[in-house]
Amino acid sequence: MRRLLVCLLALFPVMAVDAAGTAPPAAPRTALVIHGGAGFVPKDSISEAQRVAYHAALNRALDAGHAVLAKGGTALDAVTAAVVVLEEAPEFNAGKGAVFNAAGKHELDAAIMEGHTRRAGAVAGVTTVRNPIRLARAVMEHSPHVMLAGDGAEAFADTRPELERVPNTWFDTERRREQLEKAQRAERDKRAAVRDSDSDAAPYFGTVGAVALDARGHIAAATSTGGMTNKRYGRVGDAPIIGAGTWADDRCGVSGTGWGEFYIRAAAAHDICARVAYRGDSLQTAADEVINRLIPAAGGDGGAIALDRDGNIAMPFNSGSMFRGWVHPDGRRGTAIHEAEPER
Ligand code: ASP
Repeated sequence: MRRLLVCLLALFPVMAVDAAGTAPPAAPRTALVIHGGAGFVPKDSISEAQRVAYHAALNRALDAGHAVLAKGGTALDAVTAAVVVLEEAPEFNAGKGAVFNAAGKHELDAAIMEGHTRRAGAVAGVTTVRNPIRLARAVMEHSPHVMLAGDGAEAFADTRPELERVPNTWFDTERRREQLEKAQRAERDKRAAVRDSDSDAAPYFGTVGAVALDARGHIAAATSTGGMTNKRYGRVGDAPIIGAGTWADDRCGVSGTGWGEFYIRAAAAHDICARVAYRGDSLQTAADEVINRLIPAAGGDGGAIALDRDGNIAMPFNSGSMFRGWVHPDGRRGTAIHEAEPER
């Protein structure tokens, strides 16, 4: 009798479907992961007010990206929406709040990639486009090229009236100017090269990125950054280099943040997805191997966010912190800055 009951219970969902004539639509398995940069931000170096502001900005970006996915929108639109919010947030080193280069100006890098089509767009050394991620997307959608740099990227932006332009000083923030002054003082003092150093904390990055899985099972990734404080000679980091700081294919997407030179030499973002594709590694194993073994072994540091077509999310970092946020396919959502802290 008990056995019969178990059999009937097991059959019940099938019977329910048949009785109604149609199967209830499966809930779409969407997922989203974002970052606001990896770095070394000691827990006690940020005030409660700053902490609240960081979490609020991450949550606004999650809201923007997830709203697109929830409406059945594309992963491409979701990562664009999330990254635009992060570019607008002065807390992060992208768009407003980007770091200064050695000449006291801002040169912005960004890239976007759509996995299943392998379409990609990237810009480097942009100076007047308010949202560089939108320009990267325009390169992808409205030019025959993948990557445009400097004056050429600006000239292309001139052909896209939908892109808002701003004077370079619009990206200024006092905090970033202090970081530049600190970096230049350190340089004069012949101290080690300073990356994006916080005025009251150790080196800290702040690049932003997003990776999304949409209801059709497609993945897109996007990254945007001001690069490194006090950079010169038109230095370009990993963020706009497809395969280094940004990558998406039909099973995996990655956005990196960290010391760009090391990510470029490791082809870090592509390597994570290649390990998933060719070795059959789980996303977490692949991301850990690249971020927690290969990059530090080479002398670099940073983190990455990664997402696969099953909605798995990995967010490894070998620095002390990484601003990050996520929405799992089952709706579990959170934001965090440090390791093992309660989710907000
Ligand atoms: N990866 C960026 C760069 O090297 C920096 C960062 O992640 O903050 O330009």
